[in-house]
Amino acid sequence: MRELEHLHLQLRLHRHLCFYPFLSRALEYVKEAGFTLDDLISSVSARIRAKERVIEAIRTGVIQRPVIGDDTQAQTELLSYPFARILVSCIRDSYLIRRYALAEAKGAYKRLIEDLRSDDSIIHELSEDLGIHAEFSPNLVLLPFTDYLRLTANLRDKRWKLVNRSMVRGKVRLGMTEFVRIVQEAMYERIVKDLPLDVPDDICNSLSEHIEHIRKELGVKRKNLEGLHTPPGGDPGSYPPCITNILNNLKAGINVPHSARFAVTAFLLNIGLSVDEVIELYRNSPDFDEARTRYQVEHIAGVKSGTRYTAPSCATMRTYGNCVGSDEFCEKVTHPLSYYRLKLKLGK
Ligand code: SF4
Repeated sequence: MRELEHLHLQLRLHRHLCFYPFLSRALEYVKEAGFTLDDLISSVSARIRAKERVIEAIRTGVIQRPVIGDDTQAQTELLSYPFARILVSCIRDSYLIRRYALAEAKGAYKRLIEDLRSDDSIIHELSEDLGIHAEFSPNLVLLPFTDYLRLTANLRDKRWKLVNRSMVRGKVRLGMTEFVRIVQEAMYERIVKDLPLDVPDDICNSLSEHIEHIRKELGVKRKNLEGLHTPPGGDPGSYPPCITNILNNLKAGINVPHSARFAVTAFLLNIGLSVDEVIELYRNSPDFDEARTRYQVEHIAGVKSGTRYTAPSCATMRTYGNCVGSDEFCEKVTHPLSYYRLKLKLGK
């Protein structure tokens, strides 16, 4: 009797769990409801939605949570998550894994912001499940600084630096919106953990049609990214190795330190790229925020002040660990922009 009541309770919570399918309770629900891997593979609707999830991640970088009409739809949404993880694991592409995990985390973040408008209990549940030991009071969250440091390690904006935060009893003081942004990082950690899964070959083979479709989308995305990195008027073949290295990291969705972002932005603006073209280069970054990026790029371009920053010299690049892969041209220059001009002049 108690078991039945428990399952009913889980079913009532069903709809809400389908928006956060990485939570332990969502996993428990799938187990307790008796779904097997075979059920998953043979569920056409879950399979279709799973493929949609991965394709949405590739195309837009955010897996939007849909409007859920009934329990069947909620169940499909919930089951499509483990299925999407299987699809991504069969492809075994590190760029896809990061992009997919980030798109799931961003989708959940957007949903969380909406949910918080009507009920703040969800943030307590998520925090507990994700192992974040926060203290809540109206409009204020206190986070142990060890959790804070771990979860903001990939957030580059100055406002996240510990020196810019106020502390209360050894805990970092945060507004609710800031805390939710940090929860997104924890969701990403949870989702990316264990990927790629070790999926047996026969299962991957049985999904070959979907996998092929996803691979095609991935190919198109990669081509577009290549295009973005071949700016009109610029010659990427003449970029110095340091700049090429930073661009490759951005393309791969790897978090790039602030000093490297400044260097690549100033370099590209100085060789003639527009503010919009430079912003596009950051779109793959795990912490991409268009308004913030625009503000920073426009600041370096001197849109308001009229004074454009120049790129850092080789000496500064070395100091910050951004001088990577120097070659024979580097011996003749002291500045990445001189490298570019020299190589263009020599036509090499
Ligand atoms: S020596 Fe200068 S131009 Fe060459 S890789 Fe280092 S920073 Fe870049």
